[in-house]
Amino acid sequence: MQQDSQEILSLMLDDLHEDLNKVKKKLYVENKVIKDPDEAVVYSWKMHLSRNQSIIVDLMHGLFKSSIFCPLCKQTVVIGEPFCTISLPIPKNQTLYFLMYYVPYGTKELPIRFELNIAQSTNVKEIKQKIRQLIEIDEQTSIMGLAGYHLKRIFREETTVGEIKKDVEASSQTTHIMLYQQKPENVILPLMISFEDELTSEIKQISYVRILSVNKKISIAELYIEVIDYFWNYVVEIHSDIHKDSVSDPNELIKRLLLTSEKTKVEELLAPYFELFIINNKGELIPLEYSEQKLLADLNPTSLNIIWSRKSRILVSQSINKYEEHKGHIVEKNPELHITLNHCFKFFVSAETLDEDNSWYCSQCKTHVQCTKTTTIYKAPKILILALKRFKNFALGQKNKVFVEYPLTGFDISGYANIPIPKYNLYAVVNHYGNLGGGHYTAFTKNELNDKWYLFDDSNVKEVKEDELVSAAAYVLFYKRED
Ligand SMILES: [Zn+2]
Repeated sequence: MQQDSQEILSLMLDDLHEDLNKVKKKLYVENKVIKDPDEAVVYSWKMHLSRNQSIIVDLMHGLFKSSIFCPLCKQTVVIGEPFCTISLPIPKNQTLYFLMYYVPYGTKELPIRFELNIAQSTNVKEIKQKIRQLIEIDEQTSIMGLAGYHLKRIFREETTVGEIKKDVEASSQTTHIMLYQQKPENVILPLMISFEDELTSEIKQISYVRILSVNKKISIAELYIEVIDYFWNYVVEIHSDIHKDSVSDPNELIKRLLLTSEKTKVEELLAPYFELFIINNKGELIPLEYSEQKLLADLNPTSLNIIWSRKSRILVSQSINKYEEHKGHIVEKNPELHITLNHCFKFFVSAETLDEDNSWYCSQCKTHVQCTKTTTIYKAPKILILALKRFKNFALGQKNKVFVEYPLTGFDISGYANIPIPKYNLYAVVNHYGNLGGGHYTAFTKNELNDKWYLFDDSNVKEVKEDELVSAAAYVLFYKRED
């Protein structure tokens, strides 16, 4: 069988360490059970150092903080685990299926529902590009997650489908993924849609939140105009008998209402349609007084609530939840694989259920159980050695040849650690070509003196350009911490 470079490397570093180990007489240390998680991790590092002291430890050993959750007794045990290389699993780029609603700005057009079946590594930015194959959307559309009728989260451009799905599933309520059209250069203001229950006087949500795009500097009067405009087709319909032909916009409507009534308060004139409230940071509902002087920014609302009148309720509740089903849907049978080193790290630190071969002895249950394990980096070594798990199934001789993109400089693993860690720069790569049965190794290394990269291929050595360094052949990566 062919020698595995990662195995050889581990053996070599171990032997080298033992030869250089300043601790000649290793004392037996008992495993202490420590309740405090951080103390437990620090203790395991101390124990490691009491038996191991060499330049290899100083430069290359790090420490994982692993939390092991026993599904039987629901107990979590935290341990520290020293490491010299990190074997990173390569996540499968599976496709995920979900429904998405596109919500146009205003109620003149119906929302559109469509199906997506896309690679889990696709991010929000890429999702939007794909959606453009089906419908026209602006730059200003945002993907948001709803829990029930409430806005739960606005997903950032780099959030992946896998993360969205995970976030959605973490919510116990019914969750929807929405794509909201917005206006450019504005702040968003969630708008709850409700009516008052006749029997209980309770304010009930009748639809999912809508998103207003407004300028923070607008007056309350302008905000009223914005809301009337958003629901203009409803407003026209509700009082069709009087205004349909003669009134063409919200400003005119307000002027007309002021002319034809003895009431002078605009919010009272609008009450046959709806009442508008702001929701403050305590979650309280406060009536919104119409004012041309007062600014929205002065009130600092978290969201708005529109409460439709009894007269409007039937029309609104009949139309507000309607949507159109888009006949086309986006299905990727063979998603383009674009996996980055960050995906591998995220996958590595996320919870995994230990298989039978790696089952954990739970001291509480006094038996081996298949626990769930999550890992974070507690101590990051100066030299970080990462091996991509390309050889999953030795028996079958299978190799995962997927391309994993990795950064040459500024690799940041702080997100997978409990502590801020300086960034890492790549200085060497071991490449493997072919399969497990018969393959070929080469290596790239950077010459520290001239800052140039070289390829080592058997007896040949030649200079290479930086853009040749990242390939699907990469197997072991060597990074050096910046500090
Ligand atoms: Zn247990």
